[in-house]
Amino acid sequence: MPRVLLLLPTTSYRTADFMEAARKLGVEVVVGSDLPQVLAAHTPGRTLTLDFGDSEGAAREVSLFSRTYPLDAVIPVDDDAALVGARASRALGLRHNPVEAVTAARDKHRFRQRLAEAGIPSPGFELFSVRDDPLEAVADIAYPCVIKPVFLSASRGVIRADGPEAFVEAFLRVKALLEDPEVASRGREAATKILVEDYLPGPEAALEGVLTGGRLRVLALFDKPDPLEGPFFEETIYVTPSRLPAESREAVFDCAARTAEAIGLREGPVHAEFRINGRGVWPIEIAARSIGGLCARTLRFGTGLSLEELILRNALGMETESLEQEGRAAGVMMIPIPRAGRLDEVLGMEEARAVPGVEDAVIMIPAGQTVRPLPEGTKYLGFLFARADAPAEVEAALRAAHGRLDIRITPVRESAD
Ligand code: ADP
Repeated sequence: MPRVLLLLPTTSYRTADFMEAARKLGVEVVVGSDLPQVLAAHTPGRTLTLDFGDSEGAAREVSLFSRTYPLDAVIPVDDDAALVGARASRALGLRHNPVEAVTAARDKHRFRQRLAEAGIPSPGFELFSVRDDPLEAVADIAYPCVIKPVFLSASRGVIRADGPEAFVEAFLRVKALLEDPEVASRGREAATKILVEDYLPGPEAALEGVLTGGRLRVLALFDKPDPLEGPFFEETIYVTPSRLPAESREAVFDCAARTAEAIGLREGPVHAEFRINGRGVWPIEIAARSIGGLCARTLRFGTGLSLEELILRNALGMETESLEQEGRAAGVMMIPIPRAGRLDEVLGMEEARAVPGVEDAVIMIPAGQTVRPLPEGTKYLGFLFARADAPAEVEAALRAAHGRLDIRITPVRESAD
């Protein structure tokens, strides 16, 4: 039975779905995580505690472990684990992404530099230090612009500014976020940097793909029908298949392949985002992992394979008959956190589930916890899933379901998380 190491931060939403996929494939799973696991002592060879912040040390731990329990694949599930995955796979002689490629995918500044070098359409960009005085920069910035940390994800700390005043305010807000002790210690050097990019107009699409020996196979293209125009960029609805014209879809596929090649990604899942406008297709980011949250639940391939099964098969070099998406349209809504405070309850879940086309509705945050919206927040309230014959029906079902939710949050005075 093949043995796979899944690198799963304890905060991951994906554990259950990957475990289920492994069970279906008959693969033995070792869970590598960033906190000691309660059952570790009783399940030798099944768990491994790793410091994802120290990728070299973690890779050594994996090598050591594999002497007793040989590994056939190492699969990083989240961004934080991608570097450990690359280093550990390299040490074990398994197919892997170059460390520099994973680093460039994680660092938004390096990513922009690589793309510009490769001649791939890129917005103008400039790197600042949190110690820089934004007042001195205002005159040189082209507006509108987007201010962002170089290493965070899920649109955290990403803010649009249309003029000098908004720029200074946004800069100081991102700086304050980066000086948060948890963020500063996780980001280290990266948490001292702020990237400013020209704002790219146009609709956005997200591509899910898998790389094998440098060849990209597209698994799905999602539209994001809610306009993402700032000042904050909250992800909400994803619907697949895309309703973009065939020509634009092809241009996105082509741009995705060139983007992966430009930064050197060669193996495993990729999730990439693009803006499309009259001047072409513009990469926003590419990550060496699959789609986040529970969004993968929208995807079914061939005769019902999940994305997680497909990723495991690819990592183990197993052939997959069909990468075609199942016929029907599907979508997910990441339920945004409407305001800061203490989550009391979410009413209307049954009503949301009863909307025709809606498959499921889940709330991920327990009642009583404090919540915080973007740009500082880190979590979604939950997810709505829908399936129907056409993308427009999926979108309508998700909007109707969201309209039935009554999210009760009591404001609290102290800063929330
Ligand atoms: P993260 O990795 O945190 O998601 P991104 O760089 O992907 O950060 O930015 C998050 C979102 O912000 C994007 O999906 C996009 O909607 C918006 N965004 C980021 N950069 C730009 C830009 N230069 N122009 C327009 N929108 C942008």
